[in-house]
Amino acid sequence: MRLIFLGPPGAGKGTQAQRLAERYSLVKISTGDILREAVSRKTPLGLQAKSFMDKGGLVPDDVMIGLIRERLKNLDSDSGYVLDGFPRTLPQAQALSKILEDQKAPIDRVISFEVPKRDLVRRLTGRRSCNLCKRVYHLDFNASKQANRCDMCDGVLVQREDDREETVRNRLKVYEKETAPLLKYYDKKKILSRIDGAGSIDAVFDRLQKVLNSNNLQ
Ligand code: AMP
Repeated sequence: MRLIFLGPPGAGKGTQAQRLAERYSLVKISTGDILREAVSRKTPLGLQAKSFMDKGGLVPDDVMIGLIRERLKNLDSDSGYVLDGFPRTLPQAQALSKILEDQKAPIDRVISFEVPKRDLVRRLTGRRSCNLCKRVYHLDFNASKQANRCDMCDGVLVQREDDREETVRNRLKVYEKETAPLLKYYDKKKILSRIDGAGSIDAVFDRLQKVLNSNNLQ
């Protein structure tokens, strides 16, 4: 199963990708996580990406395409994966199609998580993640058992720099301009499914599984 998760920031792509990956032993490939790791290690990639990420803008396409090409090359040929956060622009989507054509391993399904804009800001500003294992929580909707501590590894829960309200608003604008056009791109290829991303994590996960089942995936 090779999947792309699309949707605005805060739509729940990362949370659902994490769940699905655990359930079906898929590899979750999150470009945001890869970049944040690079930023915290101060690698050349991290130094290059940081200023774009801090403003809520996009890291340039050539950097991202190179990164994903390497990541996919290093996967076992038979492992399934979920792409979370890539592609985010039309040139990225076109480059991905080409890479996968060459590998003769096309994407099976693109899932778009649809959430009303007014809910996105609340979801993003309440989001916290573990500084060690990166597991994602939410102050109201998915709180950890002990305040500010990860349930899994006892790491400290922190807020992402770019989840502050001013940056969130810019990320939503960038999504509308650069990423929303991908819905048409994948719809034309007849591999797009839209899912209502509102409601609880469990409810959305049920909808996701139904869509995968109805497309003979799993
Ligand atoms: P995310 O965790 O997916 O919200 O990504 C966090 C930030 O990383 C984004 O706001 C961008 O600055 C950068 N980023 C992640 N994926 C991409 C991508 N495919 N193209 C460009 N920038 C990206």
